[in-house]
Amino acid sequence: MRTAVYPGSFDPITLGHLDIIHRSRAVADRLIIGILANPRKDPTFSLEERVQQVRKSVAGMKHVRVQTFDGLLVNFAKHVSADVIVRGLRAMSDFEFEFQMSLMNRRLRPESETVFLISAEPWTYLSSSAIKEIVRFGGSVRGLVPPHVEEDLRRKLRLVPDSLRSI
Ligand code: ADP
Repeated sequence: MRTAVYPGSFDPITLGHLDIIHRSRAVADRLIIGILANPRKDPTFSLEERVQQVRKSVAGMKHVRVQTFDGLLVNFAKHVSADVIVRGLRAMSDFEFEFQMSLMNRRLRPESETVFLISAEPWTYLSSSAIKEIVRFGGSVRGLVPPHVEEDLRRKLRLVPDSLRSI
């Protein structure tokens, strides 16, 4: 039984993340989604909100569990007995950071192997930050995030009526 961990901020979860979650089946029997409690960037959604969004999005997927973590990823991987770390790659722009992080994690815990999965083409330009930007400016993100996340985004980011936006 091989366990993998898929760490991230998931602020919020997108169909790109979900694509990677589905693809993780190829490298592990069990996937633990690790939601980072305090990401570098100030998160838009609280930890509780992100957990709810991810749980709802993966409901019914038997091989997936959702947990939160803080501190070093390798310590979390050890804690949940995962020897595979799954990360998603979109473009070369992801590479530099991911490369550094995977080498550092290998140094810290040689037993964990980082595996990079590439999402399907429609998701290669998709990021949580782009999603938030679109919603803030009134655009539609339908078909890019699960419907319940779309609603959360609208509620959180579009509280100001359009008529007051230019003030
Ligand atoms: P982090 O702050 O750790 O980058 P994210 O939630 O932004 O957290 O991303 C988690 C992981 O999912 C990262 O490996 C990221 O590259 C990957 N990822 C995010 N969006 C996509 C996507 N659209 N396609 C493929 N991988 C993605």
